[in-house]
Amino acid sequence: MQPSAFNVRVPLPTGDVFLMNTLTDAQLVVSGDAARLVDQPDDAGAPAANCAADVLDALATFAEHGFLVEDRTSEQAALARRFSEFREDTSQLRVTILTTLQCNFACDYCYQGDRMDAGRPAPKMSIETSARVAEWIAGQLDAIGPRRLVLTFFGGEPLLNTPAMFDVAERCWQTTQARGVRQLVNIITNGLLLSPATVDRMLPLGLNGVKVTLDGDRATHDRVRPTRGGEGTFDRIIANIRRVAGRTPVAIGGNFDAATAGSYPALLDFLKSQEFAGRISKVAFKPVIAPKLAHAPPAGLIPLTAATPDRQPQNGSCMSVAGNGSDGMSACDSCHFVDEQMAMLREETRRRGFSTVDGVHMGPCELYRRHSHTIGPDGSLYACPGFTGANALAVGHIAAVHDIVQSEMASRFERLAPWRQCGDCSFVPVCGGGCAVASHAELGDMEAPSCHKRAFESALVSLAEDAVGTIAGGLQ
Ligand code: SF4
Ligand code: SF4
Repeated sequence: MQPSAFNVRVPLPTGDVFLMNTLTDAQLVVSGDAARLVDQPDDAGAPAANCAADVLDALATFAEHGFLVEDRTSEQAALARRFSEFREDTSQLRVTILTTLQCNFACDYCYQGDRMDAGRPAPKMSIETSARVAEWIAGQLDAIGPRRLVLTFFGGEPLLNTPAMFDVAERCWQTTQARGVRQLVNIITNGLLLSPATVDRMLPLGLNGVKVTLDGDRATHDRVRPTRGGEGTFDRIIANIRRVAGRTPVAIGGNFDAATAGSYPALLDFLKSQEFAGRISKVAFKPVIAPKLAHAPPAGLIPLTAATPDRQPQNGSCMSVAGNGSDGMSACDSCHFVDEQMAMLREETRRRGFSTVDGVHMGPCELYRRHSHTIGPDGSLYACPGFTGANALAVGHIAAVHDIVQSEMASRFERLAPWRQCGDCSFVPVCGGGCAVASHAELGDMEAPSCHKRAFESALVSLAEDAVGTIAGGLQ
């Protein structure tokens, strides 16, 4: 037996050790002596018959939970199986639909929507296309036979094109009900047009919740997420959340940078004091993806914008959230994070009693699910929302017209496996090499890992602190 490559540990002030295996997700609090057994199982005593019974028990427990393995080859095979099962999972079909790339906000980190080409409006899904999207989804349901269809409406601002959203959701509802498939619908919105009427229309179609972005306290949010006309939006969004929170769960997201992170505790205090605090299903903040520009950004753009030096947006989708996350409402909580600030904000969020991500169980991301798709306003298919809008990054089209460039791009995404460059990193099972959108935007290479190992390490410390409170006993 030998130690697993995926063991991680946190020494505790008591002298005990928090052990976790990132492949099996086993978590134990053990004595220092027991932890040393994991590192050197062969020193436990030889011959085995001479070992004390409790040592043998400990070794058996460690092996049972994957802390000790037969050999590295079989463990790597188990990891490959894990990723393969994740990729081929047919229990659910997940589709993110960008009904429009237009947006009524002018966020200072976002360079898209109507602004993407001087004066030319960004694309918006027609009703004809929304009908074809629903048809395409029906075809996928028939081909895969999942138990669940998860639709996520996103943009741009999806509520700028509610007819397309209602149309897709209604048509899919008919399809899923006829096939005995459960339909869940999520809406990711900036919140300005969120209304009880929209929620009530979507509730019978499987509405699971809405996710709204707030970028810091009122003053900060109003500065970084004004309307196109420059007006503040915080109070109107809060009023809208108040009106719908009794009808559907509301998740709160937020995007911070070095200048705004400090305002988030005040936002959390504000949310905690609201009467709808108990209806907030989740709170998760993340930094804006920050591309490394070869030279200064164009005038008027803040360097946090995910835009290339030639002024083309890297992403046509809203940069406030990217992707589809692990539960449909997290919208890529796994995509990109800044180590210390992430840890601080996660802790502040938890201290106020809000549900949030733990920062360890993050990946692999939706990009690696075969049956997770993103559809742009014109019916183009993308690997994930973070790649939407740049035509060169489309991997196909719902019309299934063969396009050699798109086929090649699809193969390129299919081959993505950045974790293969991660050597013996113990976080591979829960990271998968990070966010490909961040790699593409920041490193100019979507195949490279986008590494935030320190963020995992600090999140592990929080997990250990939690475990000390919740794990009674463990191996001693
Ligand atoms: S990207 Fe970094 S943290 Fe993630 S698996 Fe690779 S080396 Fe580990
Ligand atoms: S590549 Fe990044 S943005 Fe896309 S689904 Fe994965 S974590 Fe989200």
